[in-house]
Amino acid sequence: MQIKPLFFALLTFFTLHLKAQTPHLKGKVEIIMSTGQITADFTLSNLPNLGKDYQILLNKGFNIKAIKDSTQQSLKYTGYYNGKMRGEGIVYIPQDKNDVLVNPRHLNISYTGAFPIYNGDYNFTDFKGLIAFNGQTLRAAEQSKWYPIIYDVKNDQLIEQVTFDITVSCKEASQIFVNGDMPKPGPIAQFTSTVAIAPLLFVGNYPIQKTNNALFLNTNMNSGQLAIFEANISEIKQYFNKVLGIPYTTKNVFIEHTAIEKFNKGRIWGFASYPTIALAGSNLGETIDEVNKKFKDSTDYPFYAHEIAHYYFGNVLQPNSTLFWFLLESTAEYLSIKASETKFGQSYSSNYYKNAVSNLKEFKVVPLNKVTEINQINGTYRYSYGPLLLRGLEQTVGEKKTFAFLKQCLHTKGQATNYDFLKEQALKSGIDQKEWDNFEKTFVESENVTSLIKY
Ligand SMILES: [Zn+2]
Repeated sequence: MQIKPLFFALLTFFTLHLKAQTPHLKGKVEIIMSTGQITADFTLSNLPNLGKDYQILLNKGFNIKAIKDSTQQSLKYTGYYNGKMRGEGIVYIPQDKNDVLVNPRHLNISYTGAFPIYNGDYNFTDFKGLIAFNGQTLRAAEQSKWYPIIYDVKNDQLIEQVTFDITVSCKEASQIFVNGDMPKPGPIAQFTSTVAIAPLLFVGNYPIQKTNNALFLNTNMNSGQLAIFEANISEIKQYFNKVLGIPYTTKNVFIEHTAIEKFNKGRIWGFASYPTIALAGSNLGETIDEVNKKFKDSTDYPFYAHEIAHYYFGNVLQPNSTLFWFLLESTAEYLSIKASETKFGQSYSSNYYKNAVSNLKEFKVVPLNKVTEINQINGTYRYSYGPLLLRGLEQTVGEKKTFAFLKQCLHTKGQATNYDFLKEQALKSGIDQKEWDNFEKTFVESENVTSLIKY
């Protein structure tokens, strides 16, 4: 069986939709493909008013030249010595004398750093947070913190999504792509987005293919393969629109890239930075069965459905708080099961639940209503066990009310996505108190629901 480790795919925090401002990133970045060097000079403006409760995160591989204020005065900052890490980044905090500089609305940050080039050799791992050079391309997602990211301390939120006006130059690149804008020919191009988005970078020498609803970077598909690929993606989007009542109209960008970790044949890894879906380990054209007009491997369909579902749970709703992982991953996985069940029939979900139940028999969880810290919902909980809880809700109130509940969640904004949120949305969506209490008692409060799952 093909293993698709979604576990590593989205070790990221989608940002809360802040009622406050969205940061604007303006400036330039220069990339040298042959040495792996990245040099940037960015101005962050329109920063939300976070008082002293903010940090600036930047990938640990960079050295800061200077942090300046709006008058071009060089600021003092902590983190240059004995700095703390937050994920992939070192924490920098601008100082005013010996205290945190309050509410800088405008900051200029210049920095440089070089990253290893993996050309025929490998690291032990690859994941969304690495800055990956392979001699032909550079891949840097928002999670890598290749641009300065503001961390909102009080709300425990990374503000990764920004509006931007960025000039990217790379002498050795024939194509440059910044998520949120269209790919443009190198060696230098300007990219802008007036909507807040995660500016993933994909730069280098690669072909571009287009269909009506998607762009494919670094793929080599024939027209038949492209059409079948597009038809499958479009079918998934239509299904989600039907059950969730929100259309997904944005063009997807599919990036085929080479992981910097050795992948055994058959292993595919993907991650999403809406609306981009990046894939490693597979030649996309070869995954298509042109005769039967489908993916050769039937696990590809649920794989894409999961990534596409992140438009809804990850983008339309940007979870935070204690149930962050449940509302990000368990929902996306459950929606993927439903889309695939519609595509392949009841036998798909029967098999899915049968396998999940047998794999999770010994697994014990902290019940959702007792989760106090987001990482209590670990990888297995969020990707494998959480969907069983949603299946439990479906068993309790039916499919229709389960979708109504998910829909209701998507119509909220800026709320803390904790257990109270879950319950409140359930009751608002038409699930009555008795039904919820029943679900809570039977499924939520059980440390292991596998014996209750029907398949
Ligand atoms: Zn996911």
